Amino acid sequence: MHCSGQMLIGQQAVTGSSAVIHAVNPATGEQMEPPYPGGGAAEVEKACQLALAAFDDYRELALEDRALFLETIANEIEAIGEVLIQRAVSESGLPQARIVSERGRTCGQLRLFASVVRAGEWLDVRIDPAIPDRQPMPRTDLRQRHIALGPVAVFGASNFPLAFSVAGGDTASALAAGCPVIVKAHSAHPGTSELVGRAVQKAVSKCGLPEGVFSMLFGSGRDVGAALVADYRIKAVGFTGSRSGGTALMQIAQQRKEPIPVYAEMSSINPVFPLPSALKARGETIAEGFVASLNMGAGQFCTSPGLVVAEKGEALDAFVSKARDVLQQCASQTMLTRGIYEAYQQGLDRLSSHANVSEVARGQVGDSPNQCQSALFITTATDFLADEALQDEVFGSTSLVIECTDSAEVKQIAELLEGQLTATLQMDDADFDIARQLLPTLERKAGRILVNGWPTGVEVGHATIHGGPYPATSDSRTTSVGSAAIFRFLRPVCYQALPDRLLPGPLKESNPMGLKRLYNGKRET
Ligand code: NAP
Repeated sequence: MHCSGQMLIGQQAVTGSSAVIHAVNPATGEQMEPPYPGGGAAEVEKACQLALAAFDDYRELALEDRALFLETIANEIEAIGEVLIQRAVSESGLPQARIVSERGRTCGQLRLFASVVRAGEWLDVRIDPAIPDRQPMPRTDLRQRHIALGPVAVFGASNFPLAFSVAGGDTASALAAGCPVIVKAHSAHPGTSELVGRAVQKAVSKCGLPEGVFSMLFGSGRDVGAALVADYRIKAVGFTGSRSGGTALMQIAQQRKEPIPVYAEMSSINPVFPLPSALKARGETIAEGFVASLNMGAGQFCTSPGLVVAEKGEALDAFVSKARDVLQQCASQTMLTRGIYEAYQQGLDRLSSHANVSEVARGQVGDSPNQCQSALFITTATDFLADEALQDEVFGSTSLVIECTDSAEVKQIAELLEGQLTATLQMDDADFDIARQLLPTLERKAGRILVNGWPTGVEVGHATIHGGPYPATSDSRTTSVGSAAIFRFLRPVCYQALPDRLLPGPLKESNPMGLKRLYNGKRET
């Protein structure tokens, strides 16, 4: 398989006619071939038209066939082989080992959703059979199941060229729910996107599905992306990226004649709370773990620990001193794009020139383009509380330590924080009471609470929540990672007094699909 520079609309490969995108190798600054001309109104129209045409057939596909489709996508991605790995490495600057493991995660997610589809629990079938002789009024027959929302627009993320992009978690969960998907590929990795897009396109054909189940467009977010979100046939949006990009899409979606949900994962600084006893007993070990998490992937993770909140004193001084020593040894790493590198530099400049923030340490300087130099800063709780801007995400390997006078101030900081994807406690048994006092606040602030771990490295499981209150995400009721992500693209429908012959399979009295339904308030076995 090779890169042709074309968009994929249904089973067609189409050359765009708007501004050309060139991938740039961030490690060398070299422009890569082929050019990717962007799409426009005509391509958005065609992709949406095909997606709508495919919707009713695709959403009623037998569960086994839909599961096989997801597995076929995974097989086709693996079949691309080394070409995909090399292209993704060149377009992202990420190390080969990371890309290989990300491919594993991407295919693993697709297979996880295949198993979820087969199990059918997401249909959440509930049946309240009629009770004609109930007094004083008879009860009518009520049956509920979940159906797919409709065609979904997915925006690929810059920081996960595979796992959060063309066939990443948003696409896998939307396809699992029965929604056709139109991807707006991220301009930083068009070649990777095309290779994966062609694998999905091939899977659509191999499985004999309607072609509109999948399309992929290139082009600027403000034109192609905005037009997609505004199109009446699109019924939901999945996005990972900046707060400004996500909120712009939320606004477009809200201003439509028919507003639709936007599931945007945007910005989080993932506070870490090393509690006093743990800090005293093993502050240096905590510092090592912290810097390792911060430095992972040049800090270009939505879960990077960008804030450390702790009581001041000798234990915190020792932690900071160790973190300084370790961080100063950290080699620089290539950032994903020139834009992300420049935004990172601006973030560091803002912190280092802030009157009430001190620089603790910087990592090593690199001599190739777009190098992320890790950094650590420190401030007091009073100064942090006085300046909202200190909460802004600086996307990259930097973090801010906040010195608090006591545990009440630690809690005050926690209360002030915006919504987060994660909140981490480093604690020992003697910290139990403080942890218990912090927990209700952290529950209100974050989607995932960790003890004695690090927020980077998100497990793709059934209990995973990768979400949180705004601005971590646009909808705190959901997750973009793990099997529960499917619920973003479903809605319940209730069928009242429909004759059995007219009912969809999951709701028929004989339970032909063998589902574990909630029948008359009791779970079927
Ligand atoms: P981005 O600028 O938000 O772009 C993500 C996608 O959204 C791209 O396809 C982009 O299209 C599109 N887009 C952006 N603004 C839009 C708008 N106003 N209307 C419609 N579409 C729009 O994110 P990025 O390029 O990945 O990185 C930029 C910054 O985002 C980073 O420096 C970082 O701060 C943040 N980021 C955060 C996370 C996280 O998980 N928290 C992850 C990645 C990035 P085009 O670029 O093609 O126009």
